[in-house]
Amino acid sequence: MINIIFDNADNKELFEGAAISICRAFFPDDQVVSSSDDDHTLDDSALSLTKESRTLYLKFEMGVVRVFTGDVENAMRVRTDDDHSMTEAVRSTLKKLLYSTLETALEGRSLPWGCLTGVRPVHFLSKLIRREGSEEAAVRVFENEFHVSRKKSKLALSVYQKQQSILKDMREGYSLYVGIPFCPSVCLYCSFVSYPISAFGGMVDKYMMALKREMEVCASLMKDKTPVSVYIGGGTPTALSIEQLTFLMECLKDNFDLSSVDEFTCEAGRPDTINDEKMAVLKEYGVNRISVNPQTMNQSTLDIIGRHHTPRQTELAFECARRAGFDNINMDIIMGLPDEGYYELERTLTAIELLGPDALTVHSLAVKKGSTLMEKLITRDMSTLSLNVTGQMQDLVTSYVQDMGMEPYYLYRQKRITDNIENIGYAKPGKHCIYNVITMEETQSVLALGAGAISKRVYDDPEREAKAPDGTMRRRNIERCDNVKEVAAYIERIDEMIDRKRALFG
Ligand code: SF4
Repeated sequence: MINIIFDNADNKELFEGAAISICRAFFPDDQVVSSSDDDHTLDDSALSLTKESRTLYLKFEMGVVRVFTGDVENAMRVRTDDDHSMTEAVRSTLKKLLYSTLETALEGRSLPWGCLTGVRPVHFLSKLIRREGSEEAAVRVFENEFHVSRKKSKLALSVYQKQQSILKDMREGYSLYVGIPFCPSVCLYCSFVSYPISAFGGMVDKYMMALKREMEVCASLMKDKTPVSVYIGGGTPTALSIEQLTFLMECLKDNFDLSSVDEFTCEAGRPDTINDEKMAVLKEYGVNRISVNPQTMNQSTLDIIGRHHTPRQTELAFECARRAGFDNINMDIIMGLPDEGYYELERTLTAIELLGPDALTVHSLAVKKGSTLMEKLITRDMSTLSLNVTGQMQDLVTSYVQDMGMEPYYLYRQKRITDNIENIGYAKPGKHCIYNVITMEETQSVLALGAGAISKRVYDDPEREAKAPDGTMRRRNIERCDNVKEVAAYIERIDEMIDRKRALFG
């Protein structure tokens, strides 16, 4: 167990998340707890950083953060800038300080992403490049100040450069996201908004009607712009019946000018939802990119994770999509699934290479709160299953994607991701997903419709000032609003969801 003690309750509230994230990154299997020493009764002898006892004391005073761990006392001065509040600057300093303290205490054990715990390291690097004025200077800060390894900084830089080449040709407009939160069954690791369609079948039509209403009003808010990309995600949109899928496409066509859309993606994630008729509907309405997601090509793993399909069904679904004329097909896989190691991953990659997709998105398993997998691991139903991703497994992926002629173009990290690594989107030249790049780099507004969808408005003026959550005025050119996640609440409160969009885009 790691015990973090803050000098007072206010600081605990403000900085607990940052301190815990670094400790968890170093000690993923340990419990991390925190408390505050408001009445100053802490006994210094309790502080130590050994295998047997890990107790840290954190003190914040006069623009300096200090950490005490028994014999060791480290301190770091807080540096502020115009883009960040004092609270954010202290948080960032605390992470760097804790990182270097733990790295030294653990005799040089480093983490590939250093003290970066955020979701979008490439976005962070691109901000550094703007601030520092050159890629070289930014990479130096990335590696020296934030302790990112050379391997990861090279990866982040190559993704950044690829994204810049994609974004420079992008016309003005916005992206449209539509969420269909239904799936044939719910996968064990799922933490998305997803309902098994068989049990919630009665709700689907009501959901589609609410979505239609949201589309009708929200389309008028964007009437002087046209969408650059459309992304129908979920859930599994192809879990809808032919009639429902056609209804959805008609609604989109009626409300939005899709004549100049550069990319129109529909996730067809579960192979057991793909057939010739559905592919024909998607094709007819202009979908030009789909995703067929095996996650693994090993039957025993599919059985464990609750995906009720076979590897053969994935192959047939892929062939079906090709037959329908799709020339941009992405496949998703997950590394670190229960009881999968190098051998199982190689089997999956070999089967995928034979199919020849245009893009491959490689996730690492993230055991998220609320997922059935998390519950089962906690209740020990599955405590004997191993979940890990080794360096050899990552190298194996790199060698396969290179053989398939793909390059990384998109990268993000998740909380509780196995072995603290990252998810990477690879694509053949010209087969990347524009929507993915836009959402990562936040270069365009996203109008997002459906349960759990999060809309973003990106203002043209990068110097725009607005009130931050801590009440201070700061540079802020992005505002967000979200829809409720539960389908029943979304249907019932559709007017409120529309009003939120009016407030954001109106
Ligand atoms: S297919 Fe995706 S959205 Fe659906 S249950 Fe599985 S992980 Fe969740």
